Amino acid sequence: METLLVVGAGPKALAVAAKSHVLRSLGMAAPRVVVVEAHAVGGNWLPTGGWTDGQHRLGTSPEKDIGFPYHSTWARGRNRDIDHAMAAFSWTTFLIEHGTYAEWIDRGRPSPQHHVWAKYLQWVAKSIDLELVLGRVDRISHGDGAQWQVDVVDADGARSELTADGLMITGPGRSSRALLDHPRVLSIAEFWDRAGRRTLPAASRAAVIGGGETGGSALDELVRHEMLTISVISPLATLYTRGESFFENSLFSDPVKWAALSVQERRDVIRRTDRGVFSVRVQESLLGDNRVHHLQGRVTKIAPQGESLALTLSNELRADQVHNFDLVVDATGGQPLWFLDLFDQRTADQLELAVGGALTQTRIESSIGYDLAVGGLAGKLYLPNMAAMAQGPGFPNLSCLGELSDRVLQTQPARARAGVERAAASR
Ligand SMILES: Cc1cc2nc3c(=O)[nH]c(=O)nc-3n(C[C@H](O)[C@H](O)[C@H](O)COP(=O)(O)OP(=O)(O)OC[C@H]3O[C@@H](n4cnc5c(N)ncnc54)[C@H](O)[C@@H]3O)c2cc1C
Repeated sequence: METLLVVGAGPKALAVAAKSHVLRSLGMAAPRVVVVEAHAVGGNWLPTGGWTDGQHRLGTSPEKDIGFPYHSTWARGRNRDIDHAMAAFSWTTFLIEHGTYAEWIDRGRPSPQHHVWAKYLQWVAKSIDLELVLGRVDRISHGDGAQWQVDVVDADGARSELTADGLMITGPGRSSRALLDHPRVLSIAEFWDRAGRRTLPAASRAAVIGGGETGGSALDELVRHEMLTISVISPLATLYTRGESFFENSLFSDPVKWAALSVQERRDVIRRTDRGVFSVRVQESLLGDNRVHHLQGRVTKIAPQGESLALTLSNELRADQVHNFDLVVDATGGQPLWFLDLFDQRTADQLELAVGGALTQTRIESSIGYDLAVGGLAGKLYLPNMAAMAQGPGFPNLSCLGELSDRVLQTQPARARAGVERAAASR
């Protein structure tokens, strides 16, 4: 049996592990899924993960759960069986098992807080008896064959090596990076840590750098504090609200139309619906607050000036502007290529050969195939977080985790075996 190793026990790992569990329980061949996690299942949705205080709410509907859209394409003739079996791990089944389904409906189906979403993921992990290795992946190597060697360090510093046929990277990397090492410039991890301990520095003029989901959650928190002004700094002309009508959402749930769009059309969809946009819920909570403003520009310099910080904002067609703040939150988000730091030199070289040049975001993004893996590498390297442009805007987020798991698990040997089993069953 092939082994797929997943770095990070977030929604993507759970989606793939649950689908593999279901396929095998229905008698179909699927890779064994092993998940390595540095903190806890759903760690990035808990205060300890550094991306949230756990109290803020999911932007998307929780019904976009690990099986969504429940439209499996894995095995002809058995797909509805797979969908029904996956429903055992849905958000609504989680609520039914915990006796809170009716209350959730009666309260108008509210988006759950992030820590509740983590509980849902932990419930899935327990229900499928997830094969979990607790520890931080700190080195990845792709051997001469098609196999991956992954070094894991546990909480006591003990090191172990795991071997796998396929490797899937998840999550946005670390949140502890800030544009300047200064007590009044907070990384997003520091911001949530201090917000949770109620020790945010007193400030009257705050700035949040970044107009995406990370910045949106930070703003949602900052407006609860006493401040005179809160500025959101982003390079776009305004703060866009995510397009959330049926037409936009359906492109996320079902990427089948994506392949027919031009590169420019794809960029357009992502710009209007995903990158650097606030969810409708966050935007609505900010609209009524006259302390919140938008400043356009890229922050190119931060200079401490006594108690305050002077931020230089650059725009292509205008002279630089300097604005003063006494608290700055760096909410520019994760680093898409964070996992490259884990690769040894030989693996990085092999990846360069596979993508045809230096390892840039654009080059890797365009190398992602239908199975959400980099094309041309002997061992499969699944990068769903980088699959938006090539395969569909829903793959990096929570929009089509069921489709994601179908594609990742459709490895050649698994498909071949499923074909053999189908043929045997029809005899
Ligand atoms: C504040 C915030 C709110 C968001 N809200 C939404 C939303 O409502 N809807 C939506 O669709 N998207 C949302 N997103 C985007 C969201 O990040 C992704 O949709 C989704 O969580 C990614 O899931 P994942 O499985 O890739 O990773 P994550 O849930 O981020 O999990 C990654 C895991 O990897 C672990 N890890 C990291 N490094 C290592 C290592 N070296 N070794 C071992 N383990 C490691 C982490 O501890 C973490 O548990 C939000 C993002 C943020 C920051």
